[in-house]
Order: sequence, then structure tokens, then C-alpha cells
Amino acid sequence: MIFGGLQKNSFIDYPGKISCVLFLSGCNFNCPYCHNPDLVKGCAECPHFLEENGVYDFLKNRRGLLDGVVISGGEPTLQDDLVLLCEKIKDMGYPVKVDTNGSRPKVIQGLIDRKLVDYIAMDIKTDPLRYSPLIKKHCNPSDIFSSIRIIMESGLPYEFKTTCIKPLVNDQIIENISHIIHGARLYALQEFRNTEVLHPEFFQGNKCSYDKDELIRFKAIADPWVEKCVVR
Ligand code: SF4
Repeated sequence: MIFGGLQKNSFIDYPGKISCVLFLSGCNFNCPYCHNPDLVKGCAECPHFLEENGVYDFLKNRRGLLDGVVISGGEPTLQDDLVLLCEKIKDMGYPVKVDTNGSRPKVIQGLIDRKLVDYIAMDIKTDPLRYSPLIKKHCNPSDIFSSIRIIMESGLPYEFKTTCIKPLVNDQIIENISHIIHGARLYALQEFRNTEVLHPEFFQGNKCSYDKDELIRFKAIADPWVEKCVVR
């Protein structure tokens, strides 16, 4: 297990809970706007590499103070021993939320089948047919479709999220995504904030962000298709 970082307290990452966030290193996507470039590049360049035992000690000591643990990344489903990590955290009594990019549906299904996850948040970057080449050179859309279906049929609380950035998102793409997740319990449209990103060159000379009014227009497009749509 490669831990890239630990946020000791969060009031926003696990809905309704005070949680900590474990960041696992490495990602198979290449989102230009990614705010965790060190994690994506892997541990050699990661400033916050953590020892596994230190993480478990921290979680043991925080029992009774934290309501849950968020496993984020990077992309957590890439880690071979994710099941073991979730088992250890669940054995300590914590509910587990997993953040995923949806590229490994079988891993998500495995966590659900073993009852090792209590909340799933999946990013939908754009229309699944348009992930290549910006998000990943060769992305299989059926993996994204499968993950969406698995999560929606899981019976667990979940949310889908889209960071709204040009050219990955526009009215038509929001409409397409909304159709794909028809009936979803929660869809969050996230504003892009141009801080540290994976590919700063992508943004040079381009206005890629949308303003609040435009996000509200996207919400109006998504609203009829999902139980709840929020702008963050
Ligand atoms: S935003 Fe998420 S999926 Fe995209 S590169 Fe960063 S960690 Fe990977």
C-alpha cells in the first residue's frame, strides 16, 4: 500500500461525518486540472509519503473522534491491497468512503460484495465516449459505464461528480451525462479552481473555467434527470 498523504480532519469529504482522508498514490488518468499532481506522478515525487503502520496507529488513536475514513487518491482502486486496507479500517469500526474515477469496475464490485465500503463517490469527467485522449490516451468507455451501473445498483449511498471545465463539459455533455445517470441520488457539479494543477500548460491562454451562473445553467439541465443536483 502506498500512502501519499493523510488529511487528519475533514468536515466536507464524507457527507454527514467528520472524517480523515487517506490519499493513495498513483493514478491511471491524466486529467489536466488534477489538483493532486504529486499523487498522480507516484510516490517518488510525493512529499507526504507515509509509513503504513503510522497510518494504522493514527486511525486507532482517533477512534471515537472521527466518524469515518475517506480513501482517495490518486486512484485507490489501482492498489493491490485496497481490500486489506478497507478490512483493517472496517475492523476498527469506521465506515469507509471510497473516491474513484470509475476505471476499475471489478474492484468497485469486489468492495461492495465484501461489504467493505459504505459510500462511493465517482468522478464522471465528461461524456464517457469522450475520455480519450484528454483524460486518458486509450480509455475504455465500457469501464466507466459499468462502474456507474454497479454503483447505482449497489444499494449504498453514493454520488457522481463532474468538475466543470472546457472543453470537457458543455450543455450537451451535461445532458448526455445526466441521461446516463438517470435516477441517480446525487449529482454534484464542481467549479474548477485554477490552483496547482497537473498540466498548467493546458490552461495557458485558455479560459477553461465556468462561472457560477453557467454552473447553475448546467444544474437546470441535470435537474430533471437525477434525484438531486448540487453546485459546489
Ligand atoms: S483528478 Fe483524479 S482521476 Fe484525474 S488525474 Fe487526478 S487523481 Fe487521477
